[in-house]
Amino acid sequence: MADPLPPRGRDIRRELGLRPIINVSGTMTALGASIMVPEAIAAMAAIAPEFVEIDHLQRQASQVVARLTGAEAGFITASCASGIAMAVAGAITGDDLLAVERLPDAPGPRREVLIQVGHMVSYGAPVDQSIRLAGGQVVPVGTVSVALRYHLENAISERTAAAVFVVSHHTVQYGMIGLPEFCAVCRARGVPVIVDAASEYDLTGFLAAGADVAIYSGHKFLGGPTSGVVAGRKALVRAAFLQNRGIGRGMKVGKESIAGVMAALNAWAVRDHAGLRAREQAALDLWAAALSPLPGIAAEIAPDPTGNPLDRLRVRVAPESGFSAAGLAAALAAGDPPVIVRDHEAERGHFYLDPCNLHDGEAEIVARRLAETIRGSNEGRFDAGDRHRGLARLLQWPD
Ligand SMILES: *Cc1c(COP(=O)(O)O)cnc(C)c1O
Repeated sequence: MADPLPPRGRDIRRELGLRPIINVSGTMTALGASIMVPEAIAAMAAIAPEFVEIDHLQRQASQVVARLTGAEAGFITASCASGIAMAVAGAITGDDLLAVERLPDAPGPRREVLIQVGHMVSYGAPVDQSIRLAGGQVVPVGTVSVALRYHLENAISERTAAAVFVVSHHTVQYGMIGLPEFCAVCRARGVPVIVDAASEYDLTGFLAAGADVAIYSGHKFLGGPTSGVVAGRKALVRAAFLQNRGIGRGMKVGKESIAGVMAALNAWAVRDHAGLRAREQAALDLWAAALSPLPGIAAEIAPDPTGNPLDRLRVRVAPESGFSAAGLAAALAAGDPPVIVRDHEAERGHFYLDPCNLHDGEAEIVARRLAETIRGSNEGRFDAGDRHRGLARLLQWPD
Protein backbone atom coordinates (compact mmCIF):
# COMPACT_ATOMS: atom_id res chain seq x y z
CA MET A 1 0.00 0.00 0.00
CA ALA A 2 1.21 3.47 -0.83
CA ASP A 3 2.20 5.61 2.14
CA PRO A 4 0.39 8.90 2.40
CA LEU A 5 2.87 11.75 2.35
CA PRO A 6 2.78 13.99 5.41
CA PRO A 7 0.66 17.08 4.77
CA ARG A 8 2.86 20.02 3.78
CA GLY A 9 0.26 21.95 1.87
CA ARG A 10 0.46 21.98 -1.88
CA ASP A 11 3.08 19.67 -3.39
CA ILE A 12 4.16 21.43 -6.56
CA ARG A 13 5.93 18.26 -7.69
CA ARG A 14 2.63 16.61 -8.59
CA GLU A 15 1.65 19.66 -10.65
CA LEU A 16 4.96 19.41 -12.48
CA GLY A 17 4.56 15.70 -13.15
CA LEU A 18 7.42 14.77 -10.81
CA ARG A 19 7.71 11.84 -8.45
CA PRO A 20 7.41 12.85 -4.77
CA ILE A 21 10.78 11.42 -3.76
CA ILE A 22 12.06 11.18 -0.21
CA ASN A 23 15.74 12.10 0.00
CA VAL A 24 17.88 9.97 2.31
CA SER A 25 20.83 10.37 -0.02
CA GLY A 26 22.26 13.69 1.17
CA THR A 27 22.55 17.19 -0.26
CA MET A 28 22.66 16.17 -3.90
CA THR A 29 22.50 18.58 -6.82
CA ALA A 30 20.70 15.87 -8.80
CA LEU A 31 17.93 15.77 -6.19
CA GLY A 32 17.54 19.51 -5.62
CA ALA A 33 20.29 19.93 -2.99
CA SER A 34 18.58 20.70 0.36
CA ILE A 35 15.45 21.95 2.06
CA MET A 36 15.70 25.73 1.81
CA VAL A 37 15.32 27.41 5.21
CA PRO A 38 12.26 29.68 5.61
CA GLU A 39 14.47 32.73 6.18
CA ALA A 40 16.06 32.26 2.73
CA ILE A 41 12.72 31.74 1.00
CA ALA A 42 11.32 34.90 2.64
CA ALA A 43 14.36 37.00 1.66
CA MET A 44 14.19 35.78 -1.93
CA ALA A 45 10.51 36.59 -2.21
CA ALA A 46 11.05 40.02 -0.65
CA ILE A 47 13.83 41.08 -3.01
CA ALA A 48 12.41 39.50 -6.18
CA PRO A 49 10.32 42.55 -7.26
CA GLU A 50 12.91 45.20 -6.24
CA PHE A 51 15.76 46.83 -8.11
CA VAL A 52 19.08 46.83 -6.33
CA GLU A 53 22.66 47.89 -6.98
CA ILE A 54 24.22 44.46 -7.27
CA ASP A 55 27.77 45.46 -6.38
CA HIS A 56 26.45 47.08 -3.23
CA LEU A 57 24.34 44.01 -2.41
CA GLN A 58 27.54 41.98 -2.80
CA ARG A 59 29.30 44.46 -0.44
CA GLN A 60 26.62 43.74 2.16
CA ALA A 61 27.05 40.03 1.48
CA SER A 62 30.79 40.44 2.01
CA GLN A 63 30.10 41.67 5.55
CA VAL A 64 27.83 38.71 6.33
CA VAL A 65 30.35 36.25 4.90
CA ALA A 66 33.17 37.93 6.83
CA ARG A 67 31.23 37.79 10.09
CA LEU A 68 30.37 34.08 9.71
CA THR A 69 33.74 32.87 8.40
CA GLY A 70 36.27 35.19 9.98
CA ALA A 71 37.41 36.18 6.47
CA GLU A 72 38.41 39.69 5.43
CA ALA A 73 35.86 39.66 2.61
CA GLY A 74 33.54 37.48 0.58
CA PHE A 75 30.98 37.36 -2.19
CA ILE A 76 28.22 35.15 -3.55
CA THR A 77 28.40 33.32 -6.86
CA ALA A 78 26.31 30.71 -8.66
CA SER A 79 27.82 27.62 -7.05
CA CYS A 80 30.91 26.30 -5.32
CA ALA A 81 32.20 25.09 -8.70
CA SER A 82 31.85 28.67 -10.01
CA GLY A 83 33.61 29.95 -6.91
CA ILE A 84 36.58 27.65 -7.57
CA ALA A 85 36.83 28.83 -11.18
CA MET A 86 36.54 32.49 -10.19
CA ALA A 87 39.06 32.20 -7.34
CA VAL A 88 41.57 30.44 -9.60
CA ALA A 89 40.94 33.07 -12.29
CA GLY A 90 41.49 35.81 -9.73
CA ALA A 91 44.79 34.26 -8.66
CA ILE A 92 45.88 34.32 -12.34
CA THR A 93 44.68 37.82 -13.31
CA GLY A 94 44.83 39.79 -10.07
CA ASP A 95 42.89 43.02 -10.63
CA ASP A 96 43.99 43.43 -14.28
CA LEU A 97 40.61 43.99 -15.96
CA LEU A 98 41.95 43.36 -19.44
CA ALA A 99 43.34 40.01 -18.29
CA VAL A 100 39.92 39.27 -16.78
CA GLU A 101 38.32 39.75 -20.21
CA ARG A 102 40.96 37.68 -21.98
CA LEU A 103 40.58 34.52 -19.90
CA PRO A 104 40.77 31.60 -20.45
CA ASP A 105 43.80 32.86 -22.36
CA ALA A 106 46.06 33.61 -19.41
CA PRO A 107 48.01 36.88 -19.28
CA GLY A 108 51.44 35.43 -18.57
CA PRO A 109 53.31 32.33 -17.49
CA ARG A 110 51.85 32.29 -13.97
CA ARG A 111 48.94 29.94 -14.61
CA GLU A 112 49.85 26.63 -13.00
CA VAL A 113 47.51 25.39 -10.28
CA LEU A 114 48.64 22.66 -7.92
CA ILE A 115 46.31 19.97 -6.62
CA GLN A 116 47.03 16.67 -4.87
CA VAL A 117 46.19 13.71 -7.11
CA GLY A 118 43.99 12.27 -4.36
CA HIS A 119 41.94 15.47 -4.43
CA MET A 120 41.16 15.33 -8.14
CA VAL A 121 37.57 14.26 -7.57
CA SER A 122 34.33 14.57 -9.43
CA TYR A 123 31.38 16.07 -7.57
CA GLY A 124 29.22 15.64 -10.66
CA ALA A 125 31.87 17.37 -12.78
CA PRO A 126 35.63 17.06 -12.36
CA VAL A 127 37.18 19.67 -10.05
CA ASP A 128 40.12 20.10 -12.41
CA GLN A 129 37.70 21.39 -15.05
CA SER A 130 36.89 24.38 -12.83
CA ILE A 131 40.63 25.11 -12.83
CA ARG A 132 41.00 24.69 -16.61
CA LEU A 133 37.93 26.83 -17.33
CA ALA A 134 39.68 29.65 -15.52
CA GLY A 135 42.78 29.42 -17.71
CA GLY A 136 44.62 27.38 -15.11
CA GLN A 137 46.99 24.57 -15.99
CA VAL A 138 46.55 21.68 -13.61
CA VAL A 139 49.73 20.37 -11.95
CA PRO A 140 48.99 17.11 -10.09
CA VAL A 141 50.95 16.71 -6.85
CA GLY A 142 52.01 13.30 -5.50
CA THR A 143 50.26 10.05 -6.35
CA VAL A 144 46.76 8.76 -5.76
CA SER A 145 47.79 7.12 -2.48
CA VAL A 146 50.66 9.25 -1.19
CA ALA A 147 51.53 12.92 -1.34
CA LEU A 148 54.38 14.28 0.75
CA ARG A 149 55.78 17.71 1.47
CA TYR A 150 58.58 17.30 -1.08
CA HIS A 151 56.07 16.57 -3.84
CA LEU A 152 54.38 19.90 -3.12
CA GLU A 153 57.60 21.85 -2.63
CA ASN A 154 59.01 20.63 -5.93
CA ALA A 155 55.80 21.39 -7.82
CA ILE A 156 55.98 25.09 -6.91
CA SER A 157 57.74 27.33 -9.42
CA GLU A 158 57.60 30.89 -10.79
CA ARG A 159 54.73 29.64 -12.98
CA THR A 160 52.53 28.70 -10.00
CA ALA A 161 49.39 30.82 -9.61
CA ALA A 162 47.58 28.96 -6.84
CA ALA A 163 47.01 25.64 -5.11
CA VAL A 164 43.62 24.00 -4.66
CA PHE A 165 42.80 21.83 -1.63
CA VAL A 166 39.58 19.78 -1.65
CA VAL A 167 37.79 18.76 1.55
CA SER A 168 35.33 16.00 0.74
CA HIS A 169 34.35 12.40 1.37
CA HIS A 170 35.21 11.95 -2.32
CA THR A 171 38.94 12.58 -1.81
CA VAL A 172 41.44 9.91 -0.82
CA GLN A 173 41.14 9.92 2.97
CA TYR A 174 44.70 8.87 3.82
CA GLY A 175 48.27 9.59 2.74
CA MET A 176 47.54 13.15 1.61
CA ILE A 177 49.19 16.34 2.86
CA GLY A 178 46.95 17.86 5.54
CA LEU A 179 45.67 21.40 5.22
CA PRO A 180 47.95 23.08 7.82
CA GLU A 181 51.11 21.65 6.23
CA PHE A 182 49.81 22.32 2.72
CA CYS A 183 49.18 25.95 3.65
CA ALA A 184 52.52 26.33 5.40
CA VAL A 185 54.47 25.10 2.35
CA CYS A 186 52.46 27.31 -0.01
CA ARG A 187 52.59 30.35 2.26
CA ALA A 188 56.40 30.14 2.46
CA ARG A 189 56.53 30.38 -1.35
CA GLY A 190 53.79 33.01 -1.72
CA VAL A 191 51.28 30.62 -3.34
CA PRO A 192 47.63 31.26 -2.39
CA VAL A 193 45.65 28.23 -1.19
CA ILE A 194 42.04 27.89 -2.34
CA VAL A 195 39.98 25.39 -0.34
CA ASP A 196 36.94 23.67 -1.83
CA ALA A 197 34.87 23.24 1.33
CA ALA A 198 31.56 22.89 -0.52
CA SER A 199 29.93 20.46 1.87
CA GLU A 200 31.65 21.35 5.13
CA TYR A 201 29.79 22.68 8.17
CA ASP A 202 32.93 24.36 9.54
CA LEU A 203 32.79 27.95 8.30
CA THR A 204 35.92 29.18 10.10
CA GLY A 205 38.41 26.31 10.42
CA PHE A 206 39.94 26.23 6.93
CA LEU A 207 40.78 29.93 6.88
CA ALA A 208 42.00 29.63 10.47
CA ALA A 209 44.27 26.76 9.35
CA GLY A 210 45.95 29.10 6.87
CA ALA A 211 43.87 28.92 3.68
CA ASP A 212 43.65 32.14 1.68
CA VAL A 213 40.20 31.43 0.24
CA ALA A 214 37.51 28.96 1.32
CA ILE A 215 34.49 28.23 -0.86
CA TYR A 216 31.17 26.74 0.24
CA SER A 217 27.96 25.73 -1.48
CA GLY A 218 25.03 27.89 -0.40
CA HIS A 219 22.55 25.11 -1.16
CA LYS A 220 24.04 22.31 0.92
CA PHE A 221 24.04 22.34 4.74
CA LEU A 222 23.31 26.09 4.82
CA GLY A 223 19.88 25.51 3.29
CA GLY A 224 20.18 28.50 1.00
CA PRO A 225 19.33 28.84 -2.69
CA THR A 226 21.65 27.38 -5.33
CA SER A 227 24.77 29.50 -4.88
CA GLY A 228 28.40 29.55 -3.81
CA VAL A 229 30.01 31.46 -0.97
CA VAL A 230 33.58 32.70 -1.51
CA ALA A 231 35.43 33.86 1.63
CA GLY A 232 39.01 34.90 2.19
CA ARG A 233 41.73 37.50 1.91
CA LYS A 234 40.45 40.76 0.53
CA ALA A 235 42.77 41.14 -2.48
CA LEU A 236 42.11 37.58 -3.68
CA VAL A 237 38.37 37.81 -3.06
CA ARG A 238 38.28 41.10 -4.98
CA ALA A 239 40.21 39.57 -7.89
CA ALA A 240 37.76 36.65 -7.91
CA PHE A 241 34.78 39.02 -7.75
CA LEU A 242 36.10 40.96 -10.76
CA GLN A 243 35.67 37.81 -12.84
CA ASN A 244 31.97 38.75 -13.01
CA ARG A 245 33.20 40.93 -15.90
CA GLY A 246 34.73 37.85 -17.52
CA ILE A 247 34.29 34.11 -17.18
CA GLY A 248 32.03 34.69 -14.16
CA ARG A 249 29.32 36.14 -16.39
CA GLY A 250 28.26 32.67 -17.40
CA MET A 251 28.08 31.80 -13.70
CA LYS A 252 25.90 34.76 -12.82
CA VAL A 253 24.07 34.86 -9.54
CA GLY A 254 20.94 37.00 -9.18
CA LYS A 255 19.76 39.34 -6.44
CA GLU A 256 17.40 36.67 -5.13
CA SER A 257 20.16 34.14 -4.54
CA ILE A 258 22.49 36.71 -2.98
CA ALA A 259 19.78 37.85 -0.56
CA GLY A 260 18.69 34.25 0.00
CA VAL A 261 22.11 32.95 0.97
CA MET A 262 22.76 36.01 3.18
CA ALA A 263 19.59 35.09 5.07
CA ALA A 264 20.63 31.43 5.20
CA LEU A 265 24.03 32.39 6.63
CA ASN A 266 22.40 34.57 9.29
CA ALA A 267 19.98 31.75 10.09
CA TRP A 268 22.84 29.26 10.33
CA ALA A 269 24.44 31.38 13.04
CA VAL A 270 21.37 31.02 15.27
CA ARG A 271 20.12 27.59 14.21
CA ASP A 272 19.34 25.01 16.91
CA HIS A 273 22.15 22.69 15.87
CA ALA A 274 21.76 20.41 18.91
CA GLY A 275 18.05 20.04 18.20
CA LEU A 276 18.76 19.13 14.58
CA ARG A 277 21.32 16.52 15.63
CA ALA A 278 18.79 14.99 18.04
CA ARG A 279 16.19 14.80 15.26
CA GLU A 280 18.71 13.14 12.92
CA GLN A 281 19.71 10.66 15.63
CA ALA A 282 16.06 9.76 16.20
CA ALA A 283 15.71 8.94 12.49
CA LEU A 284 18.86 6.78 12.57
CA ASP A 285 17.56 4.91 15.65
CA LEU A 286 14.20 4.34 13.98
CA TRP A 287 15.78 2.94 10.82
CA ALA A 288 18.23 0.73 12.73
CA ALA A 289 15.31 -0.73 14.71
CA ALA A 290 13.29 -1.33 11.54
CA LEU A 291 16.21 -3.12 9.87
CA SER A 292 17.43 -5.23 12.80
CA PRO A 293 14.93 -8.11 12.43
CA LEU A 294 15.51 -8.46 8.70
CA PRO A 295 17.68 -11.38 7.51
CA GLY A 296 20.89 -10.48 5.67
CA ILE A 297 20.75 -6.83 6.65
CA ALA A 298 23.18 -5.22 9.09
CA ALA A 299 23.08 -1.56 10.00
CA GLU A 300 25.66 0.54 11.82
CA ILE A 301 26.28 4.20 12.49
CA ALA A 302 28.84 5.75 10.12
CA PRO A 303 30.31 9.10 11.16
CA ASP A 304 30.81 11.64 8.38
CA PRO A 305 34.22 11.01 6.75
CA THR A 306 35.30 14.67 6.87
CA GLY A 307 34.19 15.25 10.44
CA ASN A 308 30.95 17.11 9.82
CA PRO A 309 28.66 16.72 12.85
CA LEU A 310 26.47 14.30 10.91
CA ASP A 311 26.08 10.55 11.25
CA ARG A 312 24.57 8.27 8.66
CA LEU A 313 23.37 4.66 8.81
CA ARG A 314 25.47 2.22 6.79
CA VAL A 315 23.21 -0.62 5.58
CA ARG A 316 25.09 -3.77 4.63
CA VAL A 317 23.10 -5.97 2.29
CA ALA A 318 24.01 -9.70 2.21
CA PRO A 319 22.48 -12.18 -0.28
CA GLU A 320 20.31 -13.79 2.47
CA SER A 321 18.22 -10.62 2.32
CA GLY A 322 17.26 -11.54 -1.22
CA PHE A 323 18.93 -8.40 -2.55
CA SER A 324 22.19 -6.90 -3.63
CA ALA A 325 22.84 -3.41 -2.21
CA ALA A 326 22.25 -1.88 -5.65
CA GLY A 327 19.13 -4.00 -6.14
CA LEU A 328 17.66 -2.86 -2.83
CA ALA A 329 18.52 0.77 -3.58
CA ALA A 330 16.82 0.43 -6.98
CA ALA A 331 13.75 -1.22 -5.45
CA LEU A 332 13.43 1.58 -2.88
CA ALA A 333 13.80 4.20 -5.61
CA ALA A 334 11.09 2.47 -7.64
CA GLY A 335 8.69 2.29 -4.67
CA ASP A 336 5.77 4.43 -3.64
CA PRO A 337 6.79 6.89 -2.48
CA PRO A 338 10.26 6.62 -4.02
CA VAL A 339 13.05 6.56 -1.42
CA ILE A 340 16.44 7.65 -2.77
CA VAL A 341 19.35 6.28 -0.72
CA ARG A 342 23.03 7.20 -0.76
CA ASP A 343 24.33 4.44 -3.03
CA HIS A 344 27.70 5.65 -4.35
CA GLU A 345 29.41 2.66 -2.69
CA ALA A 346 26.74 0.08 -3.62
CA GLU A 347 29.23 -2.15 -5.43
CA ARG A 348 30.86 -2.71 -2.03
CA GLY A 349 27.65 -4.26 -0.72
CA HIS A 350 26.26 -1.35 1.25
CA PHE A 351 24.48 1.96 1.00
CA TYR A 352 23.86 4.76 3.45
CA LEU A 353 20.78 6.46 4.80
CA ASP A 354 21.35 10.18 5.34
CA PRO A 355 18.98 11.85 7.83
CA CYS A 356 19.77 15.52 7.13
CA ASN A 357 17.09 16.35 4.54
CA LEU A 358 13.87 15.01 6.05
CA HIS A 359 10.48 16.63 6.35
CA ASP A 360 8.31 15.72 9.32
CA GLY A 361 6.92 12.21 9.01
CA GLU A 362 9.34 11.07 6.32
CA ALA A 363 11.66 9.13 8.66
CA GLU A 364 8.70 6.90 9.56
CA ILE A 365 7.80 6.36 5.90
CA VAL A 366 11.40 5.39 5.13
CA ALA A 367 11.40 2.89 8.00
CA ARG A 368 8.21 1.27 6.67
CA ARG A 369 9.41 1.25 3.07
CA LEU A 370 12.65 -0.48 4.11
CA ALA A 371 10.78 -3.30 5.85
CA GLU A 372 8.09 -3.64 3.20
CA THR A 373 10.58 -3.64 0.33
CA ILE A 374 12.84 -6.26 1.86
CA ARG A 375 9.90 -8.49 2.81
CA GLY A 376 8.00 -7.92 -0.43
CA SER A 377 8.67 -9.31 -3.85
CA ASN A 378 10.49 -7.03 -6.22
CA GLU A 379 12.04 -7.08 -9.62
CA GLY A 380 15.77 -6.61 -10.02
CA ARG A 381 16.68 -7.89 -6.59
CA PHE A 382 20.24 -8.75 -7.53
CA ASP A 383 20.73 -5.70 -9.70
CA ALA A 384 24.48 -5.18 -10.06
CA GLY A 385 24.05 -1.43 -10.16
CA ASP A 386 25.15 -0.79 -13.72
CA ARG A 387 25.98 2.92 -13.79
CA HIS A 388 26.06 2.90 -17.59
CA ARG A 389 22.31 2.33 -17.62
CA GLY A 390 21.83 5.77 -16.04
CA LEU A 391 24.12 7.29 -18.65
CA ALA A 392 22.20 5.63 -21.47
CA ARG A 393 19.07 7.26 -20.09
CA LEU A 394 20.80 10.65 -19.87
CA LEU A 395 21.89 10.39 -23.49
CA GLN A 396 18.22 9.99 -24.46
CA TRP A 397 17.28 13.24 -22.69
CA PRO A 398 14.78 14.90 -23.07
CA ASP A 399 13.03 11.67 -24.11
C1 LIG B 1 29.05 19.68 -4.00
C2 LIG B 1 30.49 19.89 -4.14
C3 LIG B 1 30.99 20.78 -5.08
C4 LIG B 1 30.11 21.48 -6.04
O1 LIG B 1 29.34 22.43 -5.39
P1 LIG B 1 28.28 23.27 -6.23
O2 LIG B 1 27.94 24.37 -5.29
O3 LIG B 1 27.14 22.36 -6.50
O4 LIG B 1 28.97 23.73 -7.45
C5 LIG B 1 32.33 21.01 -5.12
N1 LIG B 1 33.18 20.36 -4.30
C6 LIG B 1 32.74 19.47 -3.39
C7 LIG B 1 33.74 18.81 -2.50
C8 LIG B 1 31.38 19.21 -3.29
O5 LIG B 1 30.95 18.33 -2.38
